[in-house]
Amino acid sequence: MPSSSRPSRLQSVVLACLLATTACDTATSDAQSDAVVGESELTRPLQSGVARRTYGVVDQVRLYTLKVAEAGDTLAVDLTGDGTAKLKVSSADGSQTCLRTAATMDHHCSFLAPGAGTWTFEVTGVTAFSGSLMVTVGSTDTTSLDAGVSVHGPLTAGAQLSKHTTLGLPEAASIGDVNHWLLVKPQYVVSYNSTRKVPNWVSWQLNGAWLGDVTRASSFTPDPQMPNTVGQATNGDFDGSAYARGHMCPSADRTDTTGDNLATFVLTNVVPQAPTLNNGPWKGLENEERQMALAGKTVFITSGPIFGGTTIGSGVSVPVATWKVVVVFDSGTAAAASLTEATQVIAVIMPNDTTATKVWTEYRTTVRAIEEKTGLDLLSDVATSVQDIVETRVDTTPPL
Ligand code: MN
Repeated sequence: MPSSSRPSRLQSVVLACLLATTACDTATSDAQSDAVVGESELTRPLQSGVARRTYGVVDQVRLYTLKVAEAGDTLAVDLTGDGTAKLKVSSADGSQTCLRTAATMDHHCSFLAPGAGTWTFEVTGVTAFSGSLMVTVGSTDTTSLDAGVSVHGPLTAGAQLSKHTTLGLPEAASIGDVNHWLLVKPQYVVSYNSTRKVPNWVSWQLNGAWLGDVTRASSFTPDPQMPNTVGQATNGDFDGSAYARGHMCPSADRTDTTGDNLATFVLTNVVPQAPTLNNGPWKGLENEERQMALAGKTVFITSGPIFGGTTIGSGVSVPVATWKVVVVFDSGTAAAASLTEATQVIAVIMPNDTTATKVWTEYRTTVRAIEEKTGLDLLSDVATSVQDIVETRVDTTPPL
């Protein structure tokens, strides 16, 4: 495992439990975990491992445990999200505790010299809560993690993480990796780059069930699912710039409930987009995707920026172009294994400037061209032999 590759350094183990009220496809027993070597705000060099569990419904008391191997390590616990929940952290002998009951969901507990033994983290009083519990502990041995939460290699099965990543994760991304911060939401999945303050990519499923008639939310906010200590764009970065807050997962793709629509209005789902592009061919393809959904198809979409050198505001990266991959399943099982060479796969790269005036079909390209410009592996859970076919041809199917 990666976490054993630098044994001379203090090792930090991050246990992150994603809690979501809806639409997580994994059952409580379906633990997901991965490991990364990431950055940290701590002042000493360390390695990070991330273990993660995803829960379908959080409506009752949840208890998590973690064994701290050595006294003297640091321990930090963060519970963030929407809704209300209480957090109680207790050491093995009960001599060290932290209780957070505020209605605002930004609970933090930290201990500079946590006692060794099994610590418990209780999440109670949950009301329609959606967010994450992250536990960071300095440790010299990952085997100190309790059974059931193991640290091992990168995620490979996107479908186990979320329906939105059914066709695979484009890259390794984890809670705690500042430039590839994984945000799993009921409505979509993001890899967020907190240095560039834009997503690396956003993935979402679209079918008729997501489409209704709720009113579009009116304004954006920073993403409350991100810790306050990690860089993020603000509305002020966009105000007065020449760029729109360009949705990746569009508002109009989430009109089934007010909550689902509001979830698209966070700045982790946005890149600075030239109005010509945002209101032109980018919108044209978005409309086409919804036509497909209304026609009974299930569509898997991933989009993101091609990075350039310019920024707005406090350093929000302005892409030179934005790209999108759209996989269209006509009927039947929508899964990586059911994507064949006959499946329609649309790929586009559109310039993020005033030249983006053509109809969306004029920007069609190959998935492989996007992969070469971004370093991502799209459709990564699809058989390589099938990727080699559908990623190297330009779709020519006429729009609906
Ligand atoms: Mn690929």
